[in-house]
Amino acid sequence: MKFNVRSRGDHASNVLTQRVKSYLEEFGLVYDEEEPEIVISIGGDGTLLEAFHQYAYRLDETSFVGVHTGHLGFYADWQPEEVEKLVIHIAKTPFKIVEYPLLEVLIRHTNDLETERYLALNECTVKSMEGSLVMDIEIKGEQFETFRGDGLCMSTPSGSTAYNKALGGAILHPSLASIQLAEMASINNRVYRTIGSPVVLPEHHTCLLKPRSDVDFQVTLDHLTLVQKKVKSIQVRVAAEKIRFARFRPFPFWKRVKESFI
Ligand code: NAD
Repeated sequence: MKFNVRSRGDHASNVLTQRVKSYLEEFGLVYDEEEPEIVISIGGDGTLLEAFHQYAYRLDETSFVGVHTGHLGFYADWQPEEVEKLVIHIAKTPFKIVEYPLLEVLIRHTNDLETERYLALNECTVKSMEGSLVMDIEIKGEQFETFRGDGLCMSTPSGSTAYNKALGGAILHPSLASIQLAEMASINNRVYRTIGSPVVLPEHHTCLLKPRSDVDFQVTLDHLTLVQKKVKSIQVRVAAEKIRFARFRPFPFWKRVKESFI
């Protein structure tokens, strides 16, 4: 089996990365950065987000597992002391795969440049580079509201415990193939009105954000930030692709939520 090990880049993560790499090679696994079947991320959730984006084009052939060298991560749930055990599990393939839903983001431009397509594991956020964000929001082809405020956050179920949670969004179990739309400080008064609470959309329901004016937008996809100009629309929905996590022992989602937050 072909593998890659990705480090956050700090000393502790680099040392552990070298150890995991040589253990796996001793078991006869092949180090391959181009086409790994399993990617071991060593660092934190951010390291796993980076690994996901590196291999987002071959999710059908790649599984992920995360080791945390800092505090317990949502995606990085193995401890450094457990890596020998983890390596033995990996070497004894086949292992169990758990799939989580992803967010698909399509950005279309007014000058009809090619549509840009992205996937997010946690969320996509949209903010204006100038003043309030003003966007018409369509859900399933129907005008829903005109949003005015700081920004919008569209998250996956596994991302619902990240930025979405800080915005008062609900925590969704990753078995619910859905996306959540959460507001960032919407303006609500006698003139402007938004729903004011997070909205959860099922699979196949698209949400379309249409700018009211030609300003530049800051669009984030997990840890990545883009500046988007001449935006005609930003479309989000549950992606056809899923991320595959290699699971070697049960660690139920609600247990992870409890251990991370309570
Ligand atoms: P970072 O270094 O700023 O870390 C963000 C924190 O979010 C870390 O503690 C990380 O462990 C945690 N995190 C990441 N994914 C999570 C998840 N699915 N559930 C629970 N916690 C999670 O940035 P980073 O490590 O590059 O991660 C980028 C993420 O940061 C974004 O995807 C976004 O969700 C999050 N973020 C949160 C806020 C906020 O809560 N106000 C603001 C900006 C970004």
